[in-house]
Amino acid sequence: MAEKKRFQAIKGTRDLLPPDTELWNRVEQTAREVFGTFGFGEIRPPIFEPTELFARSIGVDTDVVSKEMYSFFDRPIDLAPPHTFYDTGRYIKGLKDLLARGEIPNDEKNREIIQQLSERWEEFEKLPPDQPLEGEAKASLFRILGFRDRVRLGPEITLRPEATASVCRAYIEHGMHAWPQPVKLYYLGPMFRRERPQKGRYRQFYQIGAEVLETVQPGQGGAKDISKDAAVDAEVIEMVMAFFASLGLEGVQLEINSIGHAADNCRRGYVKNLQAALEKVKDKLGPDSQRRIETNPLRVLDSKLESEQAIIAGLPKISEQLCDDCEKEYAEVKRQLELRGAKYTENWRLVRGLDYYMRTTFEITAKGLGSQNAVCGGGRYDGLVELLGGLPTKGIGFAIGEDRLILSLQEAGKGGAAAGRDVFVAWMGERAQAAASAATQRLRAAGFRVELPPVEQKFGKALGQADKLGARYALILGEDEVATGQWTVKTLANGSQAKMSEAEFLEKLKNEVRK
Ligand code: AMP
Repeated sequence: MAEKKRFQAIKGTRDLLPPDTELWNRVEQTAREVFGTFGFGEIRPPIFEPTELFARSIGVDTDVVSKEMYSFFDRPIDLAPPHTFYDTGRYIKGLKDLLARGEIPNDEKNREIIQQLSERWEEFEKLPPDQPLEGEAKASLFRILGFRDRVRLGPEITLRPEATASVCRAYIEHGMHAWPQPVKLYYLGPMFRRERPQKGRYRQFYQIGAEVLETVQPGQGGAKDISKDAAVDAEVIEMVMAFFASLGLEGVQLEINSIGHAADNCRRGYVKNLQAALEKVKDKLGPDSQRRIETNPLRVLDSKLESEQAIIAGLPKISEQLCDDCEKEYAEVKRQLELRGAKYTENWRLVRGLDYYMRTTFEITAKGLGSQNAVCGGGRYDGLVELLGGLPTKGIGFAIGEDRLILSLQEAGKGGAAAGRDVFVAWMGERAQAAASAATQRLRAAGFRVELPPVEQKFGKALGQADKLGARYALILGEDEVATGQWTVKTLANGSQAKMSEAEFLEKLKNEVRK
């Protein structure tokens, strides 16, 4: 007999369970409320998107795109794979129909592979039917299998590793440039990255993020825009800080930086200097950083390697090479943060590796998270919407790691107690059951959490269960209570007991539970 397999959640994923999910809900509810007060509306983009969207917006050189994405080829719903080798003829006919209808990718490469497959199959069919599968017949079979495997049955899609790309795609797709500007959106939900799991790092993790997008109108720009952009950046940061403050998150530290913009008199000039400085110390760097001197020198500044820290400290800083406008914007962001009462420190090593990122970048850390202490990362990305085929559009946003936010709250004892019940209804007797279920309906309708046992229990046992569930009150309904309309209410914390009417009990609950 086959052994029964016990399934477990896949490595890097986990079940979120009660009572923890109460904290998750509270965090999400608070995000909705706080972001709502700043005029943000919720967007719910799909969980998967074309791989190319992420490749283009996150960059093919990044770890996320090159190794961490969960990608797969989609396939049409009405093409059954061949169940035997001899079923290939039917399969090829199906492929050709779908190709003609554009339901599988109709590009040159795919057309060529399907053509080859079809020709090889015709050759194979001409072989005498009872010939043993060896020699040329065997070689022909392997050629056919080879081509069959190479047909792309659908577009490549990816489980989203982040949501900014989706928000920008949606902005373009729905013509949001015609909405009142700026468009302020927030999202929350799972993201997927194939990372090495550890505390605070998962393969399915959750982010809460927001983006402010504004399409540039003709004639816009200049000095006025600098102070406007800075104010938007500062307000976005203020919003994250307000959210964290209303959750009571502890040890919150905001770090900011400006990474200038992609121009020779600004970041590009700096990157050249950085590259030259890195070449001089190349021998002392680890293999990752050595590789990045060529591919993405800014990312060397991200390095956490102990042996590289002293070297990095001596490298040229971007603040020394910002162009006038970027320098002005950075000064204005700092002034704006100060007038909003947001405390920050500057960290010149806070960078992003892609061209469309510009000016403001920020990161927020919190207490109790060990090495994975970043709870939020954000920045300005004015070129992204255009890179994805939209109009020139300014953008700034952030993503909060919800798993880490929750961990930090739990470490600080802000997890909240078990949900429990407000009322446990202990009933005995047929008449009491009808009364108990009517009472339960009314208590639930008034918003209280009520447990009604499905079968009669002795009062002793019922009270024991009420205790285990963490109920505040036991409502005892026996023949007597039903006859007199006077309920027996037991307060489980101290064992005291009192008789009261339904109206009095409701009043008591309202006063004592909803304090
Ligand atoms: P990023 O999208 O990489 O800028 O990340 C933004 C935030 O998401 C980080 O500061 C983390 O708090 C969180 N985060 C990123 N990757 C993971 C992961 N694998 N597991 C848990 N949280 C993550």
